[in-house]
Amino acid sequence: MRYTLQLLREVWIKVGLEKLENYKGVAVRALLDSRAMGLFMDMTFAKEKRFKMEKLKKSLLVRNVNGTVNAGGAIMHQVECNMFFKEHVERARMDVCNLGKTVVILGILWLAAHSPEIDWEKREVKMTRCPPICGKKKQEEGKKEVKKVEKDKDKEILKRLVPKRF
Ligand SMILES: [Zn+2]
Repeated sequence: MRYTLQLLREVWIKVGLEKLENYKGVAVRALLDSRAMGLFMDMTFAKEKRFKMEKLKKSLLVRNVNGTVNAGGAIMHQVECNMFFKEHVERARMDVCNLGKTVVILGILWLAAHSPEIDWEKREVKMTRCPPICGKKKQEEGKKEVKKVEKDKDKEILKRLVPKRF
């Protein structure tokens, strides 16, 4: 008897990245990669989607697992954004570099900090062991917050429209 067993070797999760300045979001596939250290965002993607890049005072060298310096060059920029995964939300700071076809990599520091529960058979990832700093955003609360932001925006617009002497 011959059968093929399709084993899962890589874990990808669909995350939402939200810009801090205007709450605009993009959904992307992120690779959980224990061989990488931190959080990484692809430079081309960051530019294309107009994420605000902060230039680092001192560039960071990217090291490979064996300690050698990565050929991709030094990290010069970081992006800070809100990262959503299902109801999970956190403020994330990502190093920007060239990742090729991958858009976002969540490395071992992130994996160790959040310790996602991975069901390798069902290919399911759950965030059940997060530190208290991570928010749990229920859909209802999320909607309320969006409404509040819109309301505040309306007030802002109104303020601008009404001349000061009123
Ligand atoms: Zn978390």
